[in-house]
Amino acid sequence: MRKPIAYLDYNATAPVHSEVITAVSAALGVTGNPSSIHASGRKARALVEQARETVAQTLGCSPRDLVFTSGGTEANAQVLLGAPVERFLISAIEHDSVRANAPQAQVIPVQRDGRVDLGSLEQQLALTGGATLVSIMHANNETGVIQPLADISALVRSAGAFLHVDAVQSFGKLPMAEVVAYADLVTLSAHKIGGPKGVGALAILNPKAEPRPLSRGGGQEMARRAGTENIGGIAGFGAACTALAARGGWMGTLELLRNQMETKLIAHGAVVAGYEAPRLGNTSTLAMPGVDASRQLMAFDLEGVAVSAGAACSSGKVKSSHVLEAMGWTPLAASQAIRVSLGWDTQPEEVDRFVAAWANLAQRLGIRQVAAE
Ligand code: PLP
Repeated sequence: MRKPIAYLDYNATAPVHSEVITAVSAALGVTGNPSSIHASGRKARALVEQARETVAQTLGCSPRDLVFTSGGTEANAQVLLGAPVERFLISAIEHDSVRANAPQAQVIPVQRDGRVDLGSLEQQLALTGGATLVSIMHANNETGVIQPLADISALVRSAGAFLHVDAVQSFGKLPMAEVVAYADLVTLSAHKIGGPKGVGALAILNPKAEPRPLSRGGGQEMARRAGTENIGGIAGFGAACTALAARGGWMGTLELLRNQMETKLIAHGAVVAGYEAPRLGNTSTLAMPGVDASRQLMAFDLEGVAVSAGAACSSGKVKSSHVLEAMGWTPLAASQAIRVSLGWDTQPEEVDRFVAAWANLAQRLGIRQVAAE
């Protein structure tokens, strides 16, 4: 697979590890249905269960807790459409797959640094409304801001509510012990860590929070998700976890690279979203004051640099970021922000290329002032 000269859009999707390609193609060569009793079926079943063990071990839960899904979107939908509660609270910066599946939810605002407003969460939890589920992501897909899960969980637990954590962006990048300790339900996706697209998982850590299945008509996945398993995708998900673990301390190196990049770009007038908050070390949302994001994207694309504008919109259009607006950015400032996300295969030269392209564009357009926020 040929990459663009500088691929800096890992939060949209990551390049697939070669080990994943090998595992997927081996799995597709297995004929059996995992539900069949014969030897071919047992071989397919073994692939699924082996991957379940690996993904569960990476998260730090029991394999029995994991349900494979078609991705993070489906796992989020299952929680928001099927959790055994009467009321949902979601943060203002959740992914669209949470927001769109919970139009009736009460929305908890975030502070200017992108972290959930704990006072508002406490107030909302204190209101009566029946059994409640709170859905708050671990690390944000646009800004990388990491939520204070210990504080959130203390409030959620003392109110007797459930906590769902969308860990799609942090899985494989941050230690997961905190997520497993505090969450009742966790969402994962394979393609953000170099696995195949179209596969993910829902971890059901507390049986009392178990959501209804979205699909019925088969006993697969312990009757939690009907339908013949995507054995290629599932095997690839397991292989991605193993490949990432084998790469050791890559996130530390990446964070240094990201920080150096930000320091240089700030000197060229960039404004970094959530700069003051703890953030995922691979992510930067950067505004170039006065320059529309779509103009930046085109200029960078011409230089062979792949980045995105806020959340990659499935329609391919650039839309205003609800995340930045929730953090108090004006719609105009938010429309001037792009997202740069590094990953397991990022080379320093790719970042250098982007920094040079940014400096070039900023200089051409006469950007010097920091004025976006
Ligand atoms: N949640 C977050 C935070 C994401 O960033 C994404 C993907 O962009 C999803 C959920 C959806 O995951 P998938 O692409 O596997 O459906």
